[in-house]
Amino acid sequence: MLDNLRVVLVNTSHPGNIGSAARAMKTMGISQLVLVDPQEPVDGRATAMAAGAVDILANVKTVPTLAEAIADCQLVIGTSARSRTLQWPMLAPKEAAAKLFAEGQGAQVALVFGRERTGLTNEELQQCQFHVCIPANPEYSSLNLAMAVQTLCYEVRQAWLADLTTEPLVVEAEPLAYPSQAELEGFYHHLERTLTQVGFLREDHPGQVMNKLRRLYNRARPDSVELNILRGILTAAQRASGHEKNS
Ligand code: SAH
Repeated sequence: MLDNLRVVLVNTSHPGNIGSAARAMKTMGISQLVLVDPQEPVDGRATAMAAGAVDILANVKTVPTLAEAIADCQLVIGTSARSRTLQWPMLAPKEAAAKLFAEGQGAQVALVFGRERTGLTNEELQQCQFHVCIPANPEYSSLNLAMAVQTLCYEVRQAWLADLTTEPLVVEAEPLAYPSQAELEGFYHHLERTLTQVGFLREDHPGQVMNKLRRLYNRARPDSVELNILRGILTAAQRASGHEKNS
């Protein structure tokens, strides 16, 4: 499973932190590292901090946007040092690790970390199904990036180790059929387009409605069949209001 988990670092400013994160990952048996638009590429400072984890740096993948980093993931958990104004399902580190471990058996899953100074933007956090916060000192809760990577990867490893020592379950696990992040984004675009076409949303005044709807669907977490039904409803509404499908 640990192979299906990717650690995503968004827009890091210091290459040393990329190296430290790689080292933290390797100590926990996690190797897929994806960088989103790093301010500086992997260099000697990263290699120095990675110590024996340079293999992880050699295989690092770099992409321009978070959407690309997580497009094929079924479960995406974002990290935050504090709760934001927009309420979102929050998990404790152990719960996050258990989910990543369980779903990572059959699908790609991601743990997303933010910028050293400012963390993840609200827009980035909204691309994650859950948020996880390490319950640190409320008066000083912001961990160094690599320390946060270490703490959460440690929890994933504990979930994995606990599974190794438990008898396998006899019940058949239900096949996991959740849409990928890219499919969910496709649905949100379709929803926004349709709501604009039927006159519910105003193009010049979109407001917070789409964010709230994202939160609602995120809470319900539709599976692939349910998402197809929702898209079918949107297409029917487009037709009924005289708009072509996908127009
Ligand atoms: N001021 C920023 C802190 C950024 S710390 C903020 O409020 O988000 C850099 C990154 O380390 C964060 O984006 C997050 O990925 C991780 N991190 C730091 N402290 C954390 C904590 N207590 N819980 C979860 N992640 C944390």
